[in-house]
Amino acid sequence: MSEKGPVLPRRDSGDGTRATNKLIMSYDYSPTFQLHPYIFHLFTPNQGEFMSLAKLRTHYTVDVKPEKVDNGQKITLAGWVHEVRDLGGICFVVLRDREGKAQVTLVKKKIDKELFDAARRLIRESVISVTGSVKFEEKAPNGYELLPEKITVLNVANSPLPMDTTGKVEAELDTRLDSRFIDLRRAETTAVFKIRHQALQAIREYFVENGFIETATPKVVATATEGGTALFPITYFDREAFLNQSPQLFKQILMSGGFDRVFEIGPIFRAEEHDTRRHLNEATSIDVEVSFADHFDVMEILENLVAYVYTQVVEKCQPSLETLGIELKVPKTPFLKLTYDEVIEIINARSEEKMHWGDDLGTSGEHIVGNYVYETTGESHYFIIDWPTEIKPFYAMPYEDRPEFSKSFDMMHRTMELSSGAQRIHIPDLLKSRIESQGLNPEGFEFYLKAFEYGMPPHAGWGMGCERFIMTMLGTENIRDTVLFPRDRRRLSP
Ligand code: ATP
Ligand code: MG
Repeated sequence: MSEKGPVLPRRDSGDGTRATNKLIMSYDYSPTFQLHPYIFHLFTPNQGEFMSLAKLRTHYTVDVKPEKVDNGQKITLAGWVHEVRDLGGICFVVLRDREGKAQVTLVKKKIDKELFDAARRLIRESVISVTGSVKFEEKAPNGYELLPEKITVLNVANSPLPMDTTGKVEAELDTRLDSRFIDLRRAETTAVFKIRHQALQAIREYFVENGFIETATPKVVATATEGGTALFPITYFDREAFLNQSPQLFKQILMSGGFDRVFEIGPIFRAEEHDTRRHLNEATSIDVEVSFADHFDVMEILENLVAYVYTQVVEKCQPSLETLGIELKVPKTPFLKLTYDEVIEIINARSEEKMHWGDDLGTSGEHIVGNYVYETTGESHYFIIDWPTEIKPFYAMPYEDRPEFSKSFDMMHRTMELSSGAQRIHIPDLLKSRIESQGLNPEGFEFYLKAFEYGMPPHAGWGMGCERFIMTMLGTENIRDTVLFPRDRRRLSP
């Protein structure tokens, strides 16, 4: 290897199958190559042609199995240098990609000296592409090893690394979030986001199967959904605007538009100042609104969705669940329904700290009731229904015969609230008076109220926090573990 600039292969067939060169391409950063090092590496100078990107990788590490690949078949893996173990006469390079790890074995006596020496000098977490032949070997980590004939260094990692990727050293959450790109190289972190991906995939599947239309509502708005202070103001040309805290008002307008059954998966922004392990300032909300439905109808949709997603994750994410050491149990439906009044009784029978009618459920109350449900039913999910109208948002429909109670619900997990929903008020006069009695100004809601004046069907819906859903599914300690780049009071970057 030269001190400056890449060492180029002497000759490369470029077709990935007949490469006879046994050289490592590597380089140190030099001003000459800093601008286009990547392109430079893809260029095969002897033939003046570009290698296609596909030739930097033919397989993921986990796809090398006897059913799919022949013993001795030439393949190319690409990924990061996870570990280099130099035992003198033999050197093992562990290559890691998104899906797993593979052992690249170099026996000094059997291969080109230059290739062997360069492999020993590989720097951890550098990006490499390795072409070689597969040797199935029961004793090797994934049942095979790769005997290389070419190792290409695509980019060199600095040292020391901002954090360890092998799991040998535990890093604090803040350190991990500061260097999320490295944290994501840990199997445990990747597993969470693969499961999140699969869960969202299943959510979409479920909605589409059940006749829902996917929608997107604005995130820059002029009015607070529920009034209150939990809003981020922004400058919108010469006016003040806000980041939306919920798609609530817009998904209701869509009901007047005849959309019937809609869902949206999108960001919500809450300027809540508290710093808890279950609140974010930017979260992902899974929202549903259904016409010609009451609160019981949408509770059924919600519990079935939860059970479906769990089933799909169990079916499709076994490797990730194993990485996290989780045996996931699919919740039984229907979920238990406790009334708000029953919840007060349960709390007051079990706690010194009394809950009074009209109080919201505190964190300790959530735990008491969650444990009660778990002990009596063995299940973690349940509903709390029939909340006092006063402590629910203005759009929750009061019961006709006992208006102090609303047709509202929260879907709970043993440890926290996952979703809030209700049948909504579709009667314009009632809605206006509820807005006023909650101390809000109907003028700010004109665009919303207008949609109720010209034929609004009865409707119901809910919103569920995606991160809390994943967090409770996987039992992660902190909600920040379920977001790639969390936003909280202190964190605005990366
Ligand atoms: P909590 O009382 O637990 O803060 P909330 O009642 O204020 O929640 P809702 O307005 O009912 O929340 O929002 C519906 C769902 O959206 C919640 O049940 C929760 O799953 C999720 N959610 C709301 N706010 C946040 C947040 N700041 N961070 C993460 N998820 C949130
Ligand atoms: Mg709520």
